[in-house]
Amino acid sequence: METTLDLLDLEADWTGEHKEIVSSVRRYVDTEVLPRMKEHQRAGTFPKDVLPGLAKLGLLEALATNSLDPVAYGLAMRELERAGSTIRSFASVQGSLVMSAIEMLGTDSQKKEWLPSLGRLEAIGCFGLTEPDFGSNPAGMRTKAEKTAKGYKLSGQKCWITNGMAAKVAVIWAKLDGTVNGFLVPTATPGFEAREIRDKWSFRTSDTAELFLQDVEVPESARLPKAQSLGSALKCLNQARYGIAWGVVGAAMACFEETRRYLVERPQFNGRPLASHQLIQSKLAWMATEITTMQLLAKRLGELKSEDRLQPQQVSLGKMNNCRKALEVARTCRDLLGAAGIHHEHHVGRHLTDLETVLTYEGTEHIHSLILGEHLTGIPAYV
Ligand SMILES: Cc1cc2nc3c(=O)[nH]c(=O)nc-3n(C[C@H](O)[C@H](O)[C@H](O)COP(=O)(O)OP(=O)(O)OC[C@H]3O[C@@H](n4cnc5c(N)ncnc54)[C@H](O)[C@@H]3O)c2cc1C
Repeated sequence: METTLDLLDLEADWTGEHKEIVSSVRRYVDTEVLPRMKEHQRAGTFPKDVLPGLAKLGLLEALATNSLDPVAYGLAMRELERAGSTIRSFASVQGSLVMSAIEMLGTDSQKKEWLPSLGRLEAIGCFGLTEPDFGSNPAGMRTKAEKTAKGYKLSGQKCWITNGMAAKVAVIWAKLDGTVNGFLVPTATPGFEAREIRDKWSFRTSDTAELFLQDVEVPESARLPKAQSLGSALKCLNQARYGIAWGVVGAAMACFEETRRYLVERPQFNGRPLASHQLIQSKLAWMATEITTMQLLAKRLGELKSEDRLQPQQVSLGKMNNCRKALEVARTCRDLLGAAGIHHEHHVGRHLTDLETVLTYEGTEHIHSLILGEHLTGIPAYV
């Protein structure tokens, strides 16, 4: 028996564009991505082989030309994360962090130089904000930019940078005279080095790197002119966090669907399927309810974003709630699969370990609760 997770008939509100995007991304995920994930998970490699298919979908190109509405974009992130958080992260970094930074903060010539090739995935980008000693508190960053006769000289270190090994261009955040600024740094520039972070048990199928910049000289035209405070970097992060609030719904849906199929088929006690037991049904009902409320929340964020009314604390609420709930759903599914749940045969274990990263990056659960806490009380409690 097939069933639907659309318990509140939200799909009835979808436009033709929404339906089209869901079915094309889903087809791509089912035929081109999922069959390859097991091997890449074992090997700890990013599935570069899925990028031509992603480019063909035209999602990032549509983002570059601002021709994707926020709900359509969110649904695309949801469908991509059904394959895995690492696949959605690749697209989030490329689209919501790098391309959005150029779109929001760059000059016309920077947009012309980079957006079309990034949109077609001919060039890959990364976003370097985090440093070894400054994760939740990027304001403390040590990477610095000095003015030179022709432009700027950048020195410092970034870590945990997604797409860092494959990137042709890096958005690097650095302090210029004590103020955070953004720079577009081609990774082939002398003095720039990326080293892969290996031995991860989460995000094994993601390209994660440390970046070292030693006296990296860039021209004046490399500076993003509208990026003159940490607030500019946070503006980009808000775009990506919006996508995460949608994306993790897809991870939770994938876990639920895989587990429900297993429970309906696997007999245990008197030959009856596991799904016939009350305790099991109670957990399925709880998970379906959580997934439904996660979807409602993401949809509402999308409506607010479409009206240009979305506030950072609303994005924090969505990122925090949906990551936590997706992780709880994945953990419950792992349990319901029994021993089979720890095997690569099922995708649930990969989703579970990858969601641990999603809970942490782009603002940890604590940091998002502090953003919400400040909104609720008027009292910043970060330090
Ligand atoms: C796989 C992966 C990919 C990533 N990709 C990128 C990327 O592309 N670009 C990029 O710039 N960064 C990236 N990151 C970095 C990520 O954003 C940081 O890891 C995150 O911001 C947390 O920083 P941290 O790891 O230094 O943890 P810390 O800031 O050291 O936090 C550790 C713990 O302390 C808590 N904590 C910190 N401050 C407070 C406080 N004031 N009050 C209460 N609790 C607090 C945190 O919530 C957390 O639980 C990535 C990380 C991972 C794991």
